Amino acid sequence: MARSHEDCLKYLEKIRWQGKPKCPYCKSFRTTKLKKENRYHCNHCFTSYSVTVDTLFHNSRVKLNKWFTAIFFVTDQKNRATVRGLAKLIEVNKNTAATMISRIRDAQNDTSELLTQIIRDKNTFWVESPEESLTPEDDENNQPEE
Ligand SMILES: [Zn+2]
Repeated sequence: MARSHEDCLKYLEKIRWQGKPKCPYCKSFRTTKLKKENRYHCNHCFTSYSVTVDTLFHNSRVKLNKWFTAIFFVTDQKNRATVRGLAKLIEVNKNTAATMISRIRDAQNDTSELLTQIIRDKNTFWVESPEESLTPEDDENNQPEE
């Protein structure tokens, strides 16, 4: 199923909203889809939002497919998941990897419904196709800022 960042966004929209975008700030369903970036405009409180608001992915510039890989890595490895291991796996810098691990662990500690659902769907999630593993991933994002 989900592989690209957009696929992951669609998946999240499905499990969080069941296809009906809901404003995370005022809970209104009166929304207008914005053309760019899978964002929505709330016609009630006039903010814009995406499905990642109030989730562990909020305000992260890391692509969601990397986040999902990180979630499976951290939850599979339990306490053995290291910052260095994750940084290498998804090609982010160590600060980013450390932040991600701590957000994932926090979500685990809060028994986040979203996280539970993602983990439950893990086996249907990635279907690697041979030509994809040969193609380098687009990496315009996730570059270290320092
Ligand atoms: Zn609103």
